[in-house]
Formats: sequence, structure tokens, C-alpha cells
Amino acid sequence: EVKLRESLYIVSEFAKKYFVEQLNETEEGKNIGLSYFKERGFTKETILKFELGYSPAQRNAFTEYAEKKGYSKALLEASGLSVFNEQGNGIDRFRERVMFPIHSFSGRVLGFGGRILRSDAKAAKYLNSPETEIYHKSKILYGIFQSKQAILKQNECLLVEGYTDVISLHQSGIENVVSSSGTALTPDQIRLIKRLTPNVTILYDGDSAGIKASFRGIDLILEQELNVKVLLFPEGNDPDSFAQKHSSEEIQNYIAENATDFIQFKAKILLEDAKNDPVKKADLIRDIIQSISLVPNMIQRELYIQETSKLMDVREEVLFKELAQILQRKG
Ligand code: ATP
Ligand code: MN
Ligand code: MN
Ligand code: MN
Repeated sequence: EVKLRESLYIVSEFAKKYFVEQLNETEEGKNIGLSYFKERGFTKETILKFELGYSPAQRNAFTEYAEKKGYSKALLEASGLSVFNEQGNGIDRFRERVMFPIHSFSGRVLGFGGRILRSDAKAAKYLNSPETEIYHKSKILYGIFQSKQAILKQNECLLVEGYTDVISLHQSGIENVVSSSGTALTPDQIRLIKRLTPNVTILYDGDSAGIKASFRGIDLILEQELNVKVLLFPEGNDPDSFAQKHSSEEIQNYIAENATDFIQFKAKILLEDAKNDPVKKADLIRDIIQSISLVPNMIQRELYIQETSKLMDVREEVLFKELAQILQRKG
């Protein structure tokens, strides 16, 4: 429905402006939201650039205002911003949260992420817009609109886990970065990157979840015929916390010096407990060959095999045999 989609773009833009105004122009927004962002080290320019906002604590503040401005209950409901009961009384989806608008490739607001201000075991740290006619979580990348020029110019895309990772790296002068926002990376998201560059570097959090997600990401990216590097942050860090502790030069150097190609990454992580165990080492080699088998391009596969051979100290022909078996099994 073209008309519904157009209306959703309009109400999302309206909501974005509302949240920005709440953050910057109201006492509650300034005291709670703005001071939260300041504490996290975000500058005024950064807050403006990403159009960050604040949703008030009052349960129907946005819904009431939007209805007064003429937006229909049906549209507000379809946008995911309001929920109505049978009596027709609406409440806001986002309450007392700092707001991150999520833009399309061309800069239209599609949905929002909202972060809770205090840590609270019961409430989710981040709340996102539900799936709507215009917001499809698996098809968008946070930061793509703000980062696309830099991705093109540097012919590389950094991929991080979270909203604040994108924002802090921008503030540190690293602007070629997007986030899959916590969800497992999808083929649609990779295709979005592919419109801009064939080179992806994964910069996930330095924890076990981050490592696991990196492994999955590697295979998906290889399947889409892109080049993939990986960089892990020191244990307990993510790009945001790292960026807040270091100068932009230090961050740029850290990325340049520690990004490794996917074979070295897998080898480094897995070799730690496979070192002197030939059975485990064989498993690891098979694991790497498995990833290589996902690369559609034959010449690229050959180059990766050569590298694995050197790194693992195993003859190339053995690796080619293993690869041939895997490819044959796949048919
Ligand atoms: P912060 O620095 O604000 O604590 P983060 O980005 O480091 O946030 P992570 O826990 O590393 O948070 O999660 C990465 C991303 O996953 C978040 O930015 C968010 O997009 C998404 N996410 C995290 N927790 C949730 C949740 N409870 N519900 C939905 N999405 C979430
Ligand atoms: Mn994480
Ligand atoms: Mn994180
Ligand atoms: Mn973080």
C-alpha cells in the first residue's frame, strides 16, 4: 500500500522531530536525556548529526500530541509508536528512553531504537520499533545514511554491533561504519553494503557472543562474494567504550594494526586450544576449509588455500582434496 507507506514516513519524521525537541527544549529532556548523552561523552554536534532524542515518562505524551496534530489512531498504531486499548485510549511505545532514529539508505526515518536510562534487570535495555510496512529490521543497517559517503570514499565498511558503536566511531572521525543492531547479520544487510564496497571489516564486541557472531558473519559475507576481515576488541570492550578511552589516532591505528583476514582470525581463536592436539588441529583446518568452500570465486578460493597452507603448515594438495570433498558433498 503506497499510501500507507507514505503516511508512515510522514508520521516517523514527525515523531523524530518531537523526540529531538523533547531532548533539547524541555526540562525533563535536558535533565534526563541530554545529561545521559553528555555522560556518555556525546557532543552537541554528534547528538544533532544522529538526530538523537528523548521520549518523556508520561505514558501518552507523544500519542496525545500526535492526535492533537491530526494523526489518526490507525496510523499511529501502524507506525508502532502508539498502542490503543478497546476504549481508544493510546499509550506510547517509547517512554522515558533516549531515542535513536533509524534512517533508510536515502535518509528517511523508518523506525526507532530506544535505550533505557538506568540499568534495570526487568526492562529490556533497548526497545525497537516493531516490524511495520516501512521498518524491516533484517533489511536495514543503522548508520547507513550517515556513513555511505565515507564507505564509498574509503572503499571499506566497518560493521559493529550497536547504535552507540556507530555514533562513537563517527565522533572519533571514523565514519565508514554501520551496525546490524544486535540481530544476526542477514544477506539483505550484506547486499546493502555491497552497493557501496566489496570490503567489510567486522568489529564486534570483545566477548564470547561477539566471537560467535563474528564466525557467523564471516561465512555469510563470504557467500555474498565480499572480502572480510575481523577485529576483536580487548576483552570487555566494544568500539564505543574503546573509542571513549582513546584518541582518534589511537583508534585508527588499533583498527589498522589489528584487523586480520578471516583465516588468521579463525586460526588465532581456535588454535588456542588446539595447539598440540592433531585431532583438534584437523578439525580447525576443516572448519577453515568449510568457510573457504563458501567463496564463490575459484581464484579467490585458491588464494585462501595457499594462505591456510602456510599458516597451518599443511600441504596445499591435502587442503585442495578436503575442499573438493566439501564442494562435491554440496553438489
Ligand atoms: P550500550 O553501550 O548502550 O550499553 P551496546 O550497543 O553496547 O549498548 P549491546 O548489549 O552490545 O549494547 O548490544 C548491541 C546492540 O544490540 C544494541 O545496540 C541494540 O541495537 C541491540 N540490543 C541490545 N539489547 C537489546 C534488547 N534487549 N532488545 C533489542 N535489541 C537489543
Ligand atoms: Mn554485545
Ligand atoms: Mn556492546
Ligand atoms: Mn556499549
